[in-house]
Amino acid sequence: MQEKRLVPMIDQTEIREINRQLALKITDDYSLILAKEEPIIVLVTLKGALFFAADLMREIGIPSQVDFVRVSSYGAGTQSSGKVAMSKEIETDIHGKHVLVLDEIVDSGRTLKFLSERFLKQGPRSLKLAALLSKPSRREVEINVDYIGREIPDRFVVGYGLDHANNYREMPFIGILD
Ligand code: 5GP
Ligand code: MG
Repeated sequence: MQEKRLVPMIDQTEIREINRQLALKITDDYSLILAKEEPIIVLVTLKGALFFAADLMREIGIPSQVDFVRVSSYGAGTQSSGKVAMSKEIETDIHGKHVLVLDEIVDSGRTLKFLSERFLKQGPRSLKLAALLSKPSRREVEINVDYIGREIPDRFVVGYGLDHANNYREMPFIGILD
């Protein structure tokens, strides 16, 4: 098997700028609907959205409460299995709350569709979806993602939370794994 090559795609400065722009938009939108001092509930998909969530939440100018969900659709390869499995549920009662779901990347769209259908059943006041990255050319299911940081071509990327077989997550930049 050939060694994989890592080609830089989005550096730390760009990631910071993407997060800043996303946070501005999110802060604006929620300022209109939140009651005074009402927090939004941020639901983070483990493990990939860990760094994105940590950075974005600190840029958002409104109070928030965080919880985590774990889903997987990829297994250890670079191709999606087409199935979404949940291995950790949230522990927060989101009924009547304003909920924002964070994923690091939208690919087929199955993960965010699965999660939004599931969370909607729990009666949130509102539910929005945000992703740092999106590969529009890979979409297989219809899903409206409210906030997207950056659209990228159909390449497998790692770093800043994104993994390959659980490696590369800690890299501060995003690169293409070839
Ligand atoms: P979807 O359900 O939209 O097909 O896939 C979403 C999940 O697949 C993402 O949250 C992420 O975990 C994984 N994924 C999709 N594309 C990539 C990629 O290019 N790199 C990595 N590391 N994970 C990806
Ligand atoms: Mg993920």
